[in-house]
Amino acid sequence: MTTDVKEAETRSFEADVSRLLHMMVHSVYSDRDVFLRELISNAADACEKLRYEAIARPELLGDDPKPVITISADPDQKRLTVEDNGIGMSREELVEALGTIARSGTRAFMERIEAAKSGEGAELIGQFGVGFYSAFMVADRVDVITRKAGADEAWRWSSDGKGSYEIAPVPVADTPKRGTRVVLHLMEDATSYTQSYQLERLIKEQSGHVPVPVALVEKPG
Ligand code: ADP
Ligand code: MG
Repeated sequence: MTTDVKEAETRSFEADVSRLLHMMVHSVYSDRDVFLRELISNAADACEKLRYEAIARPELLGDDPKPVITISADPDQKRLTVEDNGIGMSREELVEALGTIARSGTRAFMERIEAAKSGEGAELIGQFGVGFYSAFMVADRVDVITRKAGADEAWRWSSDGKGSYEIAPVPVADTPKRGTRVVLHLMEDATSYTQSYQLERLIKEQSGHVPVPVALVEKPG
């Protein structure tokens, strides 16, 4: 296993992930908007997981006890960032979560999606829990910088969604104390996702019931 590897490395996606990504980018979705719902839902899940773990280990919260999801848009750089101060991921978790499809429903999902009419896709994504990969519907590169709560190391995962991803350590001085930052390098035809009114509308429509506050910031600092 690769658990102790501390240096940068390039790895291939599991074949099913590559297939899924190809399908997401090239097929049925007329409704790309769902990517934001999926990323916000993951961020909220991460905050909930931290809250749960912190019952036994309150020190995990440090001086930052309030969960928050921060969405920053940078129109000049054509970048959209979704950040949370939740549980974060270890290297091993990162590789497992964003390189494989560990869920049994995935094959069924892909069969369904191939048979689906456009418009059904969005619903299927949520239903089968392949949410993260929907980021590649709007981004030609996605970076995930993450630091597990309580850990003294942080990692950057980066991919163009075309078969492989790089994973490398990041100096913890350059990362938040814990949690995950997902940076979307938006496709040319998806730059409208940096417009505040668009983001506000989507957050309201899709993520109104998320149990963690969502903050919208015009440009990352
Ligand atoms: P699901 O949310 O249904 O498990 P996703 O494709 O949305 O499927 O996410 C895959 C996995 O990646 C999650 O189960 C989680 O382990 C990990 N993950 C994604 N985003 C985050 C995040 N912001 N913080 C921590 N873990 C995350
Ligand atoms: Mg999810």
